[in-house]
Amino acid sequence: MNKIIQLHDKKFILFIPEQEIDQAIRTVAAQLNKDYQEDPPLILVTLNGAIVFAADLLKQIQFSSVLSCIKLSSYQGTQSTDNMKTLIGLNEDVNNKRVLIIEDIVDTGKTYQTLVELLADKGAREIRIATLTMKPDAYKLDLPVHYVGINIPDKFVVGRGLDYDGLGRNLNDIYQLYLDS
Ligand code: 5GP
Repeated sequence: MNKIIQLHDKKFILFIPEQEIDQAIRTVAAQLNKDYQEDPPLILVTLNGAIVFAADLLKQIQFSSVLSCIKLSSYQGTQSTDNMKTLIGLNEDVNNKRVLIIEDIVDTGKTYQTLVELLADKGAREIRIATLTMKPDAYKLDLPVHYVGINIPDKFVVGRGLDYDGLGRNLNDIYQLYLDS
């Protein structure tokens, strides 16, 4: 039976089960452990969505890194907007450092582009990104997305840190917007 949940006014249907997500995170962690062992990055977590992925990932990371957080916002309800705001700014010195951005989802790439511009401006030596999910059909940039847990279609999802107007972040599975809602 298909599992359907309700958040606010909308219904969501089970899309990616917990075990599949955990496996994808293990794979990303193994790649990071290989690539960053010798020269660890500063880890930059984007609030609020990426905290759940970041926590899962950090438990499996074997190099020591400084952790920092930043909060940008471009989403209203289930739609991305062009109005990108910095809600909590960067408070670490990134000059001449490798930076690994941790994201919950890369959609159009606008957030990623804003972060890359900001970090490059502050002198980061290398900027990479690890994202739990990515929507390749919505992505509009030429910038490489280095570590991707799971590629998903261009539909709105919740769970594992991703919310619908504040709800759904705690779900261990990922759910997709149910068309009939
Ligand atoms: P982008 O800037 O790449 O278009 O969007 C990135 C941000 O939009 C993400 O960090 C996330 O907050 C939000 N976002 C994009 N797609 C989804 C989605 O399917 N579900 C949820 N909950 N948030 C999304």
